[in-house]
Amino acid sequence: MAGEPQADCLFCKIVAGSIPATVVGETETTLAFRDINPQAPTHVLVIPRVHYPDAASLAAAEPAVAADVLAEAGRIAAEEKIDGHGYRIVFNTGAGAGQTVFHAHAHLIGGRGLQWPPG
Ligand code: 5GP
Ligand code: ZN
Repeated sequence: MAGEPQADCLFCKIVAGSIPATVVGETETTLAFRDINPQAPTHVLVIPRVHYPDAASLAAAEPAVAADVLAEAGRIAAEEKIDGHGYRIVFNTGAGAGQTVFHAHAHLIGGRGLQWPPG
């Protein structure tokens, strides 16, 4: 069924607690934790608890949860005090765009100058 946990999914395992993560925020529908390989002083992943392979498929099936992911990213940006400097919320989608974990996730990146376009 759509949204059900996938046995071979790293982020489903983090949601289930079977793989540890440095959690910085939890809601009924989302989990936020620090990226294991941070690309900036703040690099947090915000994920839905439900499994969808990417952000667009999450938004199509469960738009309220996609909105929760965005809102939680903004809340954490404020908590980390990076919002005054600007920050980036990125959804890499597809291997060609750098997606390596096929469970929808937002990268919240900030705390340093950010170039545009990102390359
Ligand atoms: P993607 O490349 O799919 O957009 O992002 C996946 C992110 O997950 C990468 O930035 C990578 O560093 C991070 N990541 C991969 N494995 C783990 C892990 O076991 N724990 C945490 N906290 N982050 C991970
Ligand atoms: Zn998953």
